[in-house]
Amino acid sequence: MSTVESDLDVPAPARAAGSSPDAELTAARMARVGDLDVRRLLPLRQRRSVGAWCFVDHYGPASVDGVAGMQVPPHPHIGLQTVTWLIEGTVLHRDSLGSEQLIRPGQLNLMTAGRGIAHSEESPEDHDPSLHGVQLWLALPDAHRQAAPDFAHHADLPAVRLGGLDAVVFAGSLAGVTSPARVFTAVVGAELSAPADAHGAVPLAPGHEHVIFSASGTAAADGTGLAPGSLLYLPPGRESVRLDARAGARLFLLGGEPLGETLLMWWNFVGRTPDDIAAAARDWAAGARFGRVTGYRGAPLPAPPLDPVRLARKAR
Ligand code: MN
Repeated sequence: MSTVESDLDVPAPARAAGSSPDAELTAARMARVGDLDVRRLLPLRQRRSVGAWCFVDHYGPASVDGVAGMQVPPHPHIGLQTVTWLIEGTVLHRDSLGSEQLIRPGQLNLMTAGRGIAHSEESPEDHDPSLHGVQLWLALPDAHRQAAPDFAHHADLPAVRLGGLDAVVFAGSLAGVTSPARVFTAVVGAELSAPADAHGAVPLAPGHEHVIFSASGTAAADGTGLAPGSLLYLPPGRESVRLDARAGARLFLLGGEPLGETLLMWWNFVGRTPDDIAAAARDWAAGARFGRVTGYRGAPLPAPPLDPVRLARKAR
């Protein structure tokens, strides 16, 4: 997906009521992506990334019955991987490498932007009536942010049962199972669903920081209530988290080794300096670097106006 705003004016985290002193519960900001209302859970002003996860949008469930649905025209990315995961519905991805891939629930689309790629995302003409999913970004570490662009689709992902929760591991490792998806830092990305009321401990890597959020239904993480629209942050140093989930709940666990790099995020670009961002915006406007997405009916997205003063302030 494509962001429509920067992370300049995002809320500061509040302490979670009744949680351990170092856990933070924050509320999503509402944003609009095309015709879809999205709950933006990351970035936060005081937290641009959790591990390498630097962007978390949760949208739907929304009815797209008889309407165009998701229509995100071609737009560019640098310095990140897009992690696309659906809970309901279908989305068609096209990119400037020539990839064309329909994604369904339980599958992963992983696009590595590296030095530059462009893509479009749309509800196919003949789509399911409901759309529900998450759009996540993983920042590429400095050593790999100029990597060659790549796209991969993974329909067969490892699953593990944890205290009555069915976990599908789409990125990195959890409880001894590892996703085949290529990532560039030590992370975890998993969907945990509760077919019935579930209670159990989910193992965490003590060196990692984590976030947990609900996409459907209610749950508690170490006693802190979770419902769609809120995000719980757990700092490093934890060996597990206790989850109590009601039947039908669907949670996401994201985490990783703290990145230790200051990201500069603007529009769909993740860089380090204002020059990285300005060069990418210039190249997109000039039709250079990113290649061309074919097959999308509609014009590419222009970048929003770039304010060098604000960008420089943000880079500090
Ligand atoms: Mn995108």
